[in-house]
Amino acid sequence: MNVYQEALDVQDAVNLTAVSGLLNRVCKHLLREEKLGTDAIRGHAAVTMIVDKILDLNGRPNAQAFGHAHDTCVVKAGELIRCEDCGEHFPKDQIRPYKFEPDVKLCDGCHDQRMEGEG
Ligand SMILES: [Zn+2]
Repeated sequence: MNVYQEALDVQDAVNLTAVSGLLNRVCKHLLREEKLGTDAIRGHAAVTMIVDKILDLNGRPNAQAFGHAHDTCVVKAGELIRCEDCGEHFPKDQIRPYKFEPDVKLCDGCHDQRMEGEG
């Protein structure tokens, strides 16, 4: 595998799956066949070209777009849970099931508010 030619050829690609697959194959080749270490692979010219192409296909997100994407991933990954009363997102350890309706997940503040209502 000529990783330099692969990196040049992929610059016209439009398929993210294909480009990311090539990145995987090139990294494995550099590791197994050329016996390069982690830092050498990360800084390799072919890797830089392929990573740049992936960024290109992703629309080159700026810091704001990255921040929004990060927030979305945190929520979708389940690290944050939405309180069903106030609608805010909280870390798992700050959300608990409502005492009288265990399926309802609430933040501490809303949970206490509901409990006061029950009292
Ligand atoms: Zn709440």
